[in-house]
Amino acid sequence: MFFDTHSHVNFNAYKNDGEDVLRRCFESGMSVVNVGSQYSTSKRAVEYTHKFEDGIYAAVGIHPVHLKKGSFTHHDPDELTEEEIPTTGEQLDYQKYLELAKDEKVVAIGEIGLDYHHFTEDDDVEFLKNLQKETLIEFIKLANVVQKPVMLHCWDGYDDLLEILQNHPVEKKGIIHSFIGSYKMANKFIELGYKIGLNGIITYGESYDRLIKEIELKNIVIETDCPYLTPRPLEKGIRNEPLFVKEVAQKIADVKEVSLEEVAEITSQNAKLVLCI
Ligand SMILES: [Zn+2]
Repeated sequence: MFFDTHSHVNFNAYKNDGEDVLRRCFESGMSVVNVGSQYSTSKRAVEYTHKFEDGIYAAVGIHPVHLKKGSFTHHDPDELTEEEIPTTGEQLDYQKYLELAKDEKVVAIGEIGLDYHHFTEDDDVEFLKNLQKETLIEFIKLANVVQKPVMLHCWDGYDDLLEILQNHPVEKKGIIHSFIGSYKMANKFIELGYKIGLNGIITYGESYDRLIKEIELKNIVIETDCPYLTPRPLEKGIRNEPLFVKEVAQKIADVKEVSLEEVAEITSQNAKLVLCI
């Protein structure tokens, strides 16, 4: 059965039917981690877990783009959509997140990490980079206090992320979500004990076939990052949801020339192992 390790049914895109979307997942027997990107969505992710007996989990954290007040433009890599997303400029309130993180249905701290991709001309880049790094290090401390893994976001900053993880080790390791680097870079994270999270981006062509071939199935977890990144061959522009993670698994099965069942089985085992479920 499938395990979507990174979804956002806790986001406004599902404000009218989030619980129904999750119920369909629950009834199909799959597992889902809803990931927070700021305090409000982290809290909502935790609230959703308590509406279900099993299989629906949460991650809590501040996405690096939310540390800056203003907005950023979210481009779908397939250039389907371009969305202006407002950001609150939230700063880490350690105690508030510690309380949330202690919940037994919280399986990871995230999403947290580095995002150097969304800076604009007006940004004080050095200031924002430092703020992202310092916040990440604080969240790593928190993860070690509650003994949970991390769910890491990284865009255009893999070298810095690697350095931080080497100097500030996370005891329970974690997932490099939405990985879009080379297989050589992936292997550096794997050597540190991390799993590589793959999503709909790998279905948009052949750019990531080499990565899929080079990394062993035992190091891969799958995700949707819904509502974004709807995998092909699903129609362009439709809202993504956790059930569509099957298409990500299918792409991996095709490239690795193994069965869909094997990909589902192994990636679910990997997810449970890294998230300590
Ligand atoms: Zn995400």
